[in-house]
Amino acid sequence: MYWEKELETMNREQLATLQLERLQETTRRAVQSYYYGKAFTDAGLHPKDIRTLDDIRRIPFTTKDDLRENWPYGFLAVSKDELIRMHSSSGTTGRATVIFHTKKDVDAWTNLVARSMYMAGLRKSDVFQNMMTYGLFTGGLGFHYGAERVGALTIPAGAGNSKRQIQLMRDFDTTAIHIIPSYALHLYTVFEELGLKPQKDTKVRMAFIGAEPHSEKMRKRIEEFYGFRAFNSYGLSEMNGPGVAFECPEQNGMHIWEDNFIVEIIDPVTLQPVPDGREGELVMTTLLREGMPVLRYRTKDLTRILPGECPCGRTHRRIERITGRTDDMMILKGVNIFPIQIEKKLMEIPGVGRNFVILLEREGFNDLMHIKVEVEREFFNGELRHLEALRRRIVEELKSDILITPKVDLVEPDSLPKTEGKAVRVIDNREK
Ligand code: AMP
Ligand code: ZN
Repeated sequence: MYWEKELETMNREQLATLQLERLQETTRRAVQSYYYGKAFTDAGLHPKDIRTLDDIRRIPFTTKDDLRENWPYGFLAVSKDELIRMHSSSGTTGRATVIFHTKKDVDAWTNLVARSMYMAGLRKSDVFQNMMTYGLFTGGLGFHYGAERVGALTIPAGAGNSKRQIQLMRDFDTTAIHIIPSYALHLYTVFEELGLKPQKDTKVRMAFIGAEPHSEKMRKRIEEFYGFRAFNSYGLSEMNGPGVAFECPEQNGMHIWEDNFIVEIIDPVTLQPVPDGREGELVMTTLLREGMPVLRYRTKDLTRILPGECPCGRTHRRIERITGRTDDMMILKGVNIFPIQIEKKLMEIPGVGRNFVILLEREGFNDLMHIKVEVEREFFNGELRHLEALRRRIVEELKSDILITPKVDLVEPDSLPKTEGKAVRVIDNREK
């Protein structure tokens, strides 16, 4: 049982009081670090100046570059002796950022993941198979600790090795899994190859999906294929990892745990706060971190606060699923496009398979978007004119949505490269 009822349903006023106390404590702790000590001095700011929650805006933002430039220990607010764990981001560009935790930090993080999993419906009686990479990536150990705290029998399967995953699910009657959405679509292909149907041949009833952007359409597809409910899980290593924001049984936005984080949504250009309900960049501040507090971190993730209260009774606000990152926006012929717009359209079109990749190319002076799309086996082996009709439909539908005409190639199911971790959706071959 892991339902922190008092904290999860606390009224907004009490929550604000708790946040202010924790923010003041966090800033006092943060200035012990080399980085924030200097940042506060440079800004002429003292932890005592944080008198109200609004005063948070006086603190300068922290960016991924700040973390990189002060690598590895510039953000430590305690002595190294106090640390028990290190994790890192899965970033593919530049040096990965590292985060350090004290014993208390790991404990608080574990509570958050346990609380999130319990909220979605995981119970002590469940068998939980964690199909995420164990290691520096936070998705493996983060969920592992959380599931154990709920008391579920936890299988540390790790990522990849699809046939063994299916075998484990069947042998040990797995009821809940944690899986990357793009991998869930691929795994279904392996079920088919083995002549198995997840609904009939396994007992999996729920899945936690996250770590990469995915649309509501993609979630629906996964739920239909497997016949289970899939809950969106959002997190980032700088804010621990999983357990930052999570869907409740309503599956309508993710509760972001405001007793552990202060949440701001800003306009990424003007850096000013946007009103609730408007999309912007998510900025977060840790409220319980001891080892390495991070203040006003610019996540680069785009989302909005959903207005209104959640029928589940939890008072922590909800964010909408992430619609993109400020740094994965593609600009072609002056049009701004996010990969998720393309994913969403593709997932709506019958006949489209389970994987796709976007290649950005340059032809002469022109930028070209070339999309390779896997199609369902029946289509691929069927009549050529049907395949051509599908191709044309994809081009037309995308064109009306993203306003440029992509070049589309249809390819055989399961023929595009797969990754064990987050899917690589865009390959930019244009000269820099
Ligand atoms: P990392 O720190 O390497 O774990 O990566 C964190 C990043 O993964 C976030 O900043 C998001 O861009 C992305 N991410 C994690 N979970 C989700 C999710 N549920 N939906 C969309 N993007 C996600
Ligand atoms: Zn709810």
